[in-house]
Amino acid sequence: MNLPDIRIGNGYDVHRLVEGRKLILGGVDVPHSMGLDGHSDADALVHALCDALLGALGAGDIGKYFPDTDPKWKGVSSLRLLKEVMGMCKGFKLANVDSVIVAQQPKLAPHLAEMKKNIASALDVEIDRVNIKATTTEKLGFVGREEGIAAYAVALLVKK
Ligand code: MG
Repeated sequence: MNLPDIRIGNGYDVHRLVEGRKLILGGVDVPHSMGLDGHSDADALVHALCDALLGALGAGDIGKYFPDTDPKWKGVSSLRLLKEVMGMCKGFKLANVDSVIVAQQPKLAPHLAEMKKNIASALDVEIDRVNIKATTTEKLGFVGREEGIAAYAVALLVKK
């Protein structure tokens, strides 16, 4: 039996919550009293997605291509990084991505549809190939103490 050449990858990212920064997740400016700290816009969800794709490609991780020491990436929209990573996936079709944002606050459910739209557009795939879930940690751990927000993602690529 000939199995299709399929490649799976996962990604994980965390950024610290601080005052005086915007909270950008999935390219959406989510209203909140704090935002994620980082060199780029610190979009943990999109960073996890980048790492999932790079993992599926067997191509290392996001820090290899967009180092936080490079002024070129300072303050940049992470959706731009995701587009760049998707550009590296020539030769593959993206079957789907799935993801989880782990945040105690704010409530993210009202923003998930817009995040999906932004990500599907950056990946240039149909919207039903992108899934985003959100959960809290029931106030446990660093997420529960609202010190940071984490995100997990998986991506599946199929060789053309
Ligand atoms: Mg990051």
